[in-house]
Amino acid sequence: MRRRFAKILATVGPASAAPENLRLLHDVGVDAFRLNFSHGSHDDHARSVAAIRAVEKDTGNSIAIVADMQGPKLRVGEFEGGQIILTYGEEVTLFLGKDGGKAGRIPMNHPEMFAVMEPGNQLKFDDGKLMVTILSNGGETMTARVDVPGVLKNKKGVNVLGATLPMSAMTTKDRKDMVFALSQEVDWIALSFVQTAQDVIDAREIIGDKAKIIVKVEKPSAVEDLDEILQHTDAVMVARGDLGVELPLEAVPVVQRQIIRAARALGKPVIVATHMLESMIDAPTPTRAEASDVATAIYQGADAVMLSAETAVGRHPATAVAIMDRIITAAENDPEFWNYFRSRPLPHDATGEDAISISVRSIAQIMACKAVLGYTLTGSTVQRISRERPPCRIVGLTPLRKTASQMALCWGVMPVVTRDPSNFDTMVEIAREVAKEKAGAGSGDKILISAGIPFGIAGTTNTLKVDILD
Ligand code: PGA
Ligand code: MN
Repeated sequence: MRRRFAKILATVGPASAAPENLRLLHDVGVDAFRLNFSHGSHDDHARSVAAIRAVEKDTGNSIAIVADMQGPKLRVGEFEGGQIILTYGEEVTLFLGKDGGKAGRIPMNHPEMFAVMEPGNQLKFDDGKLMVTILSNGGETMTARVDVPGVLKNKKGVNVLGATLPMSAMTTKDRKDMVFALSQEVDWIALSFVQTAQDVIDAREIIGDKAKIIVKVEKPSAVEDLDEILQHTDAVMVARGDLGVELPLEAVPVVQRQIIRAARALGKPVIVATHMLESMIDAPTPTRAEASDVATAIYQGADAVMLSAETAVGRHPATAVAIMDRIITAAENDPEFWNYFRSRPLPHDATGEDAISISVRSIAQIMACKAVLGYTLTGSTVQRISRERPPCRIVGLTPLRKTASQMALCWGVMPVVTRDPSNFDTMVEIAREVAKEKAGAGSGDKILISAGIPFGIAGTTNTLKVDILD
């Protein structure tokens, strides 16, 4: 049983993909895994899915799998030897191609780029760590001057400054990857470089209700269209890596707060991502500033925080997770953390769900309840309860495997797959059993049970029972 409420989403990569490593990462704190479709083959991802599902089976814990689509992200191709060094002031050639890169020659398989770039436009590589300025464009090759030097590795991301590329939000690769990911029964699909609500609507046509959608906010246009986008998505990610390259750096913390507030008001889970413990790619401990950054996201009300390269290619994946777990727990143990949520009223809908969710929070507080157990088919009621941030464990009871795994990403929720109760007495009986076995409740503990009666119909939440375990 986890002690903390906010969740940890970790990216799978060479440093973590072995089944024993995935198990270890879950054991030390990972609640959800991100498969990054910018890297790896379908076979690689299928193996990770199988290994994660095996961990679920072994431990009895539900784990969310997020398939992260590459989106229209520009990337450099591959170099002989995996990387090159760009030196300050050096003149380099960019050429149309997938691979064959070497010192001074950078492959890029993006004809759109060669079609529109002009001298003076700039390219940033690897989340903005390196930068070149275009000197000339010959159609299939361009020359550029290195302004910010460094090591450029295979397939690192490229951001274009000063030119707009004619690209659609969902690429052919994304469509294929999405169909594949759905065939693997992933729980969430993350959409990269979303610009408008229409991008989300288009993706939903393919995804249907087979998975829930996370919009990655990493384009200025998505920030502008945030309210509309939030209406259509199921969850949102503050994708600070690309956001901080596409927007001025100083806008990132401001936009982070804005996105978290807007998402919390709607009750859509929000994930804060990228560079959270960046120095742990190499070092065994993070910087104080990184620790503070993770805690800040927690105080602001994030449902989950994400590890990227730290767990995908870093030297200390399990330590990074364990440290993140400690930072989150410490922030949540601060009484101020809970006061903050009480002092910020949320808008409510005139629904049974919201009426019950508010009651859950106040009853849990007044009676010091050990857990609230909510029966759910879609996860919706449990998500509304989670939004209220009640000071007790939230158990999401569902007969559906997918709903359970999806809820693993939501703040404070411990999903449990159970049979659907047929009547009031079994409802209470199952909840009591789960409270004892999974939520650490014992004799004399108070619990809350929420459900929709009649059972088995989605969207009927109308009942809240206060119960004392004997
Ligand atoms: P990425 O997305 O790691 O797939 O680029 C997250 C981000 O941009 O922050
Ligand atoms: Mn990104």
